[in-house]
Amino acid sequence: MNVPLLDVHKHIETMRPALMAALEQVVGHARFIMGPEVQQLEDEIRQYTGAKHAIACASGTDALLLSIKALGIGAGDEVITTPFTFFATAGAVANAGAAPVFVDIKNDTFNIDPDAIEAAITKNTKAIIPVHLFGQSADMGRVMEIAKKHGLAVIEDAAQSIGATYKNRMTGTIGDTGCFSFFPSKNLGGIGDGGLVTCNDDKLAETLTLLRQHGAHQRYYHDIIGTNSRLDTLQAAALLAFLPHLDRWAKQRAAHAALYTESFSDIPEIITPACAPDRNHVYNQYTIRVPNRDAFQAYLTEKQVGCAIYYPVCLHLQKCFVHLGYVEGQLPLSEQAASQVISLPVYPELSAAQQEYVISSVRAFFGK
Ligand SMILES: *Cc1c(COP(=O)(O)O)cnc(C)c1O
Repeated sequence: MNVPLLDVHKHIETMRPALMAALEQVVGHARFIMGPEVQQLEDEIRQYTGAKHAIACASGTDALLLSIKALGIGAGDEVITTPFTFFATAGAVANAGAAPVFVDIKNDTFNIDPDAIEAAITKNTKAIIPVHLFGQSADMGRVMEIAKKHGLAVIEDAAQSIGATYKNRMTGTIGDTGCFSFFPSKNLGGIGDGGLVTCNDDKLAETLTLLRQHGAHQRYYHDIIGTNSRLDTLQAAALLAFLPHLDRWAKQRAAHAALYTESFSDIPEIITPACAPDRNHVYNQYTIRVPNRDAFQAYLTEKQVGCAIYYPVCLHLQKCFVHLGYVEGQLPLSEQAASQVISLPVYPELSAAQQEYVISSVRAFFGK
């Protein structure tokens, strides 16, 4: 058997009639730029998340960059974030001209450690970017408390966590802005790139809307310097067709995750993902830790079990951030996670037979 880590083809096949009808509609009206589906998607995401505003944009990366710029953060400013995330989290900070400041993570959730944030605050600190990694919220209670105490903005990187909650509030609606991605591998994945920012502040929403479209209130009248970061109408139409299925997909992911966790419970070498009691995990990734990770990965690959390392190199040790002066060993829990994690197939369409095969392969490696 061959079980891919992710099966976008199978996923899209289940949605094909609704997807093709949605695309037909757009081809019919031909309003490819900012057509009616874009605003409709924004409305539906507002309703889904409970955020006051939703501003669609070109990617999750842009959602972060637009947020940073809308909050007035740039040269000379520092933004505290985690080094154990996808590059875009810190890349957006650097692209805005500010400096990312990395602090360590919590061992159990892989998310930013609130205790480490406070120690990293300087007079130049302007914001915190918690990432809800793999589909589980960071400790937003503590993050918001620290931000409030020090007058910092909070930009939530919710690229992997649409639908995940912290104390019954949707991730992405707790900080100043929430940044979502519709990259095809995300829980709400489009048929190409896409992103969205949520926020509750009217003024901030207005600035984000301006920044998305060259800073123009009215065509050819530019109040501020923005960019082109619109979401294509075709993407919005596809996402509208998918959105009603998002919660069902999350339930299927969670059921797969629960079966893995139970099936590995008698293997002491495997640390299964922890889920804090006040949060729900939407499992964009099912990520375990194993001591002999590289041998384990080679074994799974030989067995044709799809797996991947998210993420093999922490951001504070990336070549492009050498000038920031971090050294190996400085953020030990993040570095240890990078050497131990491996993600297994958890996509909604994973069949019982496929998951049985993944489980028996994993168990066999550990002599079970
Ligand atoms: C995917 C992702 C992004 C970037 O989203 P894109 O749509 O690919 O630009 C940012 N942060 C995290 C944590 C992500 O997983």
